[in-house]
Amino acid sequence: MNILVQKYGGSSVADGQRLKAVARRIIRAKEAGYRVVAVVSAQGDTTDELLGKAKEISQSPPKRELDMLLSTGEQISIALLAMAIAEGGHGVISLTGAQGGICTDSLYTRAKILRVDPARVKKELYDERIVIVAGFQGINDLGDITTLGRGGSDTTAVALAAALDAAACEIYTDVDGVYTADPRLVQTARKLDEISHGEMLELASLGAGILQPRAVELAAAWGVTIHVRSSFSYSLGTLVKGDDLMEKQRVVSGVTRDMNVVKVMLVDVPDRPGVAHKIFSTLAADGINVDMIVQTTKQGPVTDLLFTICQDDYALTRRLIEQLRDELGIADVLYNDRLAKVSIVGAGMMSNPGVAAAMFGTLAENGINIEVISTSEIKVSCLIGADRVESAVKAIHDRFRLGEELPV
Ligand code: ASP
Ligand code: MG
Repeated sequence: MNILVQKYGGSSVADGQRLKAVARRIIRAKEAGYRVVAVVSAQGDTTDELLGKAKEISQSPPKRELDMLLSTGEQISIALLAMAIAEGGHGVISLTGAQGGICTDSLYTRAKILRVDPARVKKELYDERIVIVAGFQGINDLGDITTLGRGGSDTTAVALAAALDAAACEIYTDVDGVYTADPRLVQTARKLDEISHGEMLELASLGAGILQPRAVELAAAWGVTIHVRSSFSYSLGTLVKGDDLMEKQRVVSGVTRDMNVVKVMLVDVPDRPGVAHKIFSTLAADGINVDMIVQTTKQGPVTDLLFTICQDDYALTRRLIEQLRDELGIADVLYNDRLAKVSIVGAGMMSNPGVAAAMFGTLAENGINIEVISTSEIKVSCLIGADRVESAVKAIHDRFRLGEELPV
């Protein structure tokens, strides 16, 4: 079977008109000879609105109930989209995550997909139906509804593409591809034709916000090529695919900013085995993702420990750290939420020394102070003042001449 998985984000299905346009696009693919599985997100800001409703009732609602609530957003979309396609005279069926065979663990609100049982989807495709699957949701072993974390519909689409051995996985969004920088910020930003899974994973994790990082991770592991493209045009977008020869000459592929950062600084932490483990396992137990971590040695039996988290986890982290503070005998805790992270990503960095230095130089020329640095083989991130991040992104984009087409 020539299976095509398409995913439509919330903005692509925001209202009746757009849903009808998506229906036409799906029908077009079907008429071109594909068996189409379309994964959809909740319409527009529905998920945020549902979260708002929950907040009216409780500041910390049971996560199982939150999933029960949030999953309804996608159910509205699948039903309406199936109606729009039926209206066009085509065989179609909508399926929830559970019906689509998306089996997850029980970490409500952040569930991981354990396996996909594609039997039902396959049967419907075999019967010539277009299959519409609710993104972002699954079912655990108890038979409860779970959700996959914000932006999780991308992950649903990639998981289905892998399980169905689809010919292609297209992710439709409101931008027409992956850019060298946010085009709203940098006028010379350029759309990339291709990018490797590794680079895209870094970009997505560093705030590019186009694909859910987990979806990229899954795509890399299962060798799924993702075509990121706009639902408002028929032009080609960006292919996210395995690393081969592409973009070889490009040292840096993109620059990103992430405003969703809080720095936590633990001052004079007792310097003995097990302390870091205690702190970070406590945070991990509550599902808090820690990003940058820096520990410095000081004179005497203490260290300073600094780490960053995202804004959403700020309140909970504060609570947990305050509890640990007395228990461990930490002298002081300082928080700063007026910071941002600017990063460069590029697979060519590995073989080109001096890239990090060039980035630091650009920041220095612009009088921007670096608070924390972290690197991987294919990225360099700097934590800087939030008020300087826009000028930093522009200056770095210029410095690496990302707006210019590479000579081939
Ligand atoms: N509706 C969910 C969200 O907004 C999932 C998604 O859009 O992918 O996070
Ligand atoms: Mg959404």
